[in-house]
Order: sequence, then structure tokens, then C-alpha cells
Amino acid sequence: MEKRHLTCIGCPMGCQLEVTLDNGVVTEVTGNTCKRGDDYARKEVTNPTRIVTSTVPVRGGKIAMVSCKTKSDIPKDKIFDCMKEINKIRVDAPVKVGDVLLKDICGTGVDIIATKDVDIA
Ligand code: SF4
Repeated sequence: MEKRHLTCIGCPMGCQLEVTLDNGVVTEVTGNTCKRGDDYARKEVTNPTRIVTSTVPVRGGKIAMVSCKTKSDIPKDKIFDCMKEINKIRVDAPVKVGDVLLKDICGTGVDIIATKDVDIA
């Protein structure tokens, strides 16, 4: 039996979770106030993932940068490589919310999308 202690990131309450594993299989989660904490704990100890957010320079836009994010979660151990790729992106105005700025980042199958409109200057 192995015990892991986590802080739930599902909401600002930050419940302190205790996960019990038996040969890598989650057998119990305690400390969560709601189901989201249970889901988070099970995923975090077996396949941790995150949404990544950042900003990208825009050429010819009314503002110089556009906010962006991964369209869905990516594996936590790919975050550093993905940030390096995001830092290379340059886009031309106009940009619309949901535009794909980079497809299939680092082979994750996940696109980087804009989360803001940027009009032409
Ligand atoms: S377990 Fe539920 S209430 Fe507690 S921090 Fe997570 S999401 Fe919030």
C-alpha cells in the first residue's frame, strides 16, 4: 500500500487529498469534498495532465500579443517542451477566438488555439 498526498486544484477550497494505491491501482481517495476531487486525484496519480496557457506575438495587430491555450489537457511531462514550441509561434492579425495557432503540438494531438480576438491595426 502506498499513500500519496495532493492538494486538489479543482476550486479555491484546495482540499487536502489522500490517495491510497495498491500496486499502482487507486483503491481509495479521501479528503475530497466533492466528486471532482476524487476524479482529479485518480487522474493525477496515474496520468497527470494540464491545460497550458500562454501568449503569442501578433504582427500587425491592434495589440501586440494574443492569449492562447491548449485545446485540451496535455500530459504534464510535455509542458516544458510545449512551452518551448509556443514561444516560437508568431501570427498575423486578424486573429479570432478559437483560431488554431499551432496544430498537434509536440505530437500530443492537441492544438494551440487563440483565446482572444485581435483586429488589424
Ligand atoms: S474536492 Fe471539490 S471542493 Fe475540494 S478543492 Fe476539489 S473541487 Fe474544490
